[in-house]
Amino acid sequence: MKDHHVHIGQFNDVYYIPTDILRIVVDAGIEKCYYSSTSSCKVGVTLGEIEKEIIDCTKQFSPDTMQPLLWYMPDYIRQGITVDKAFANIPYRGIKLHPRSHRWNLHDSKHLDCLHSLFGFADIHRLPITIHTGEDEYEWPCFFEQFFDKYKNANSILAHCRPLDKAIEMFKKYPQLKGDTAFVSKENIQTIINRGFKERLLTGSDFPITHYFGKKYGGKDISLEEQYREDILNFLF
Ligand SMILES: [Zn+2]
Repeated sequence: MKDHHVHIGQFNDVYYIPTDILRIVVDAGIEKCYYSSTSSCKVGVTLGEIEKEIIDCTKQFSPDTMQPLLWYMPDYIRQGITVDKAFANIPYRGIKLHPRSHRWNLHDSKHLDCLHSLFGFADIHRLPITIHTGEDEYEWPCFFEQFFDKYKNANSILAHCRPLDKAIEMFKKYPQLKGDTAFVSKENIQTIINRGFKERLLTGSDFPITHYFGKKYGGKDISLEEQYREDILNFLF
């Protein structure tokens, strides 16, 4: 079984030690995962800091099974960090975009050029490019539609499939497009299946963010390990 959506690093006020998180994932019997570092959302973070976390992980866990994603944010453009440079340093296995945490401006030519380089890279190397989706227009499933249209060999994945109707609309238009089940309700998963897109669904947990929210908003007091065991039960659909 594969978890297409795992995080390591700093998330708000909690630091999730990267190798500890991957150890929990492996011990739960998950054979492969995609992971990215939420430390990317820290103010003033540098790629070097993130690379240290990923290197720690790849020393212990093969990047062919526990697969790191390059979380690319627009500020890297200003820093001169290109996708080729980033991949030359670290055995990344895909790309992550998070238009809620890091806004992309499709009217800014630098942003556009950069997005073409990212999707183009994923297209050539047939890599996953996981995109956060949500309720606001700048994170809708159709926000990056022009790139789905142009780069059909990029394995674009709509994380969270939100809003559901807009995600389904994209599935209909772009046969290569997938969605992950992270924080998708059982009801919405069923709707996607009923609409004929079961094969587009990739299992994803968003662990350990599930633990963070469960504790903070659900008053849950369980271990990370227990939380993850609950998370992967949702993979059976
Ligand atoms: Zn996530």
